Amino acid sequence: MEDLLYYEDAYMTNFDANVVTSNTDERGTYVTLDRTAFYPEGGGQPDDYGTLNNIRVTDVQKINDAIHHYVEQPLPLGPVHGQIDWSRRFDHMQQHCGQHILTAAFVELFDVPTVAFHLGKETVTIDLQTETITAEQLAQAEARANAIILENRPVETKWVTAEEAKQYPLRKQLTVSDDIRLVIIPDFDYNGCGGTHPRGTGDVSMLKIVSTERAKQQIRVHFICGQRVSDAFTWRLASMQQAAQLLSVQQTQIPTSIEKLLKTQKQLEHDLSAAKEQLLTIEMERLARSTDETIIEAFEGYSMQQAQKIARTLTTQFPEKTVVLVATDDKKMQLVFAKGKQSTSSLNMNEQLKVLLSFINGRGGGNPQFAQGGGDFTISVDEMMQQIRNQFIAK
Ligand SMILES: [Zn+2]
Repeated sequence: MEDLLYYEDAYMTNFDANVVTSNTDERGTYVTLDRTAFYPEGGGQPDDYGTLNNIRVTDVQKINDAIHHYVEQPLPLGPVHGQIDWSRRFDHMQQHCGQHILTAAFVELFDVPTVAFHLGKETVTIDLQTETITAEQLAQAEARANAIILENRPVETKWVTAEEAKQYPLRKQLTVSDDIRLVIIPDFDYNGCGGTHPRGTGDVSMLKIVSTERAKQQIRVHFICGQRVSDAFTWRLASMQQAAQLLSVQQTQIPTSIEKLLKTQKQLEHDLSAAKEQLLTIEMERLARSTDETIIEAFEGYSMQQAQKIARTLTTQFPEKTVVLVATDDKKMQLVFAKGKQSTSSLNMNEQLKVLLSFINGRGGGNPQFAQGGGDFTISVDEMMQQIRNQFIAK
């Protein structure tokens, strides 16, 4: 087992070591070193990236007690210089330590334990063993966590035996029985943990809870720490500024302004649908005056339901007539064929529909009196109208 430099000094970004094995496995080409500052994925903390002699390390895993550094190109045995991607590592240290602090705050304030932790790309989550949590409780836990951060308490690590571990008020049961590593924030949190942590809580900088969700019988809390808080503030501020500009209001007035807009939109939608309904009546009155035995019409911006309504109303009012409608919206060409009960036409609406649907990859059906269907714009509305006239008028 190599020297684990990240345990000696979590702030080590550069180190010299020797490549002792250079090999390939199913994850890729890797090397192992006699000492390393690269933290391998584990304990909920993602692995470090960086370089070995300027060759990129893209994956670090602990496999059978050896740390495999997966590299973009093979490296020869012998001396090597390692460099850790510090912004990535420090971000993980901030999030991981923040997790310890927030988890301990929930225990201290509400006796609610954390049962799962995930350090994600966007947010960090903890799953709280409780079915309910109030906004007030979340605010209190966040405030307590930030107070601990502001106090810049030391974050100590200790290697202990199982017997020695018993003297500490550990937050949860240990998962290992020897080489136990404790991460301690004095008088606040005592915890077995193999991750990398800052020297003091102050390096976490800040913690912000961003959302919660229900997860089985638990509450999942999403939060961010350190640089992520600043980054989140930056893009949220940009969004707010843009929204305020679009709405021509102050940022604090955005919600009220959106509320007003939505109300207006609802009213407009209502008015539009009333106007469409009126237009439909006018269209029907116009078609009712037609002397043609077969009425063929195309409508733009009408739904299938509206076209069906026109066809049914007309054939009820004029049972000797046949009504053929093409209704289009921006997605589909729709056909409605209706034959009045007293029509002398021998045409079967369902069969006619099937023939015409074949031009537009359409689907639909009905019966000899009434049929409807829709398809793509593989031919134009004019071409469809011509096809319809050929079939209905010629016969
Ligand atoms: Zn930990």
